[in-house]
This record gives sequence, structure tokens and C-alpha cells, in this order.
Amino acid sequence: MEIGEMNLGQGYQPGRGNSPADSVFNRALPNALTAKSDELFALARKNSLWTLSFGLACCAIEMISTHMSHHDLDRFGVVTWPSPRQADVMIVAGTVVKKMADPIKLLYEQMPDPKWVIAMGSCATNGGPYYRSYSVVMGVDHLIPVDVYVPGCPPRPEALMHGIMQLQEKIQKDAAQSGEAG
Ligand code: SF4
Repeated sequence: MEIGEMNLGQGYQPGRGNSPADSVFNRALPNALTAKSDELFALARKNSLWTLSFGLACCAIEMISTHMSHHDLDRFGVVTWPSPRQADVMIVAGTVVKKMADPIKLLYEQMPDPKWVIAMGSCATNGGPYYRSYSVVMGVDHLIPVDVYVPGCPPRPEALMHGIMQLQEKIQKDAAQSGEAG
């Protein structure tokens, strides 16, 4: 038979050649898997982040673009969601004017725990171009706790995607460290 005519895997015989030895753990508890429950939950949570997204200003256009097919956030498990009731992450995209302070706090409080916040762009981070303006909050962290800041005016979609990946890393690291301080 010609080599080109052989099927992949043809000639394979179980038990022949090199194979790793069974670990002691596998011999004692075959097919058992151990992990901290916090880390397992974190693995599920970080790969299924539903974002409560609302646009406050120009940064929102970049956020919308990040959700579109070219960048395809779905592949990270990120689904945009119009209600706080089932959302995991609030993306604050744009200028936080003082009139919006109370609605933002209310939406945050309506989100179930665990929840996270991304401040997208310089306005949401520290007021940006409206620094010390009479009508603008100097960063959304004056209202609610922020986990990740995405710099830029506006940040490109790639920057927001990087911010989301940073948040995923934070969720996993926090779970790994949970219970250690006590
Ligand atoms: S950071 Fe720049 S792009 Fe984003 S909302 Fe503020 S002014 Fe607009």
C-alpha cells in the first residue's frame, strides 16, 4: 500500500511504543478530579460574562463596534445584555455626567453578585477631557467600585477586548486566592 493511501492512525496498536506511566493518584482514585469549587465557578463565570452595556457618550460607539461581527466578543463568552438583573459586568462607556450618577448607582445595585465593572475610556476613568468640569463626575469610581480601567479617548475595540481579558484573569486569580487570607 502506498503511504498516501494510509489512513491517519492506521497501524496504531494500543500498548506499543512510549506511554506515560499511571500516576499514583490515578491508581488510588481512578478518574477523580480535584479542584477548589471557587476556581471551578470562576472558570465558568469568566467564560460567560454578560455585560450590562449602556452608552453614555462617544466611547459607546467603540463598545458597540467591539460587539459586532468583526471583533466577535461572543467567542469569549461575552454577551451583551440590556437588563441588570442577569448581567455580570457593567461597562461604563462614556462621560459620566452628574445627572447620570444616580441611575448608574441604581443599575449597579440591581445587578446580582458577583459583579464587576469596567471603566471604558478617559471620561469614565477620571473625567478625561472634561476634567474639573462643573457637570461631570471625575471618574465612575467615585460612584461604584471599578475592577478594570481601559485607557484611551476613545479606546479601540482591541483595548476593550484586552480589558475584558484582564478582568477574566482577575476573576480567576481572585478565586485562587479566596479563603487564603483567613
Ligand atoms: S473618553 Fe473621549 S471618546 Fe470616550 S466618551 Fe470621553 S470624550 Fe468621548
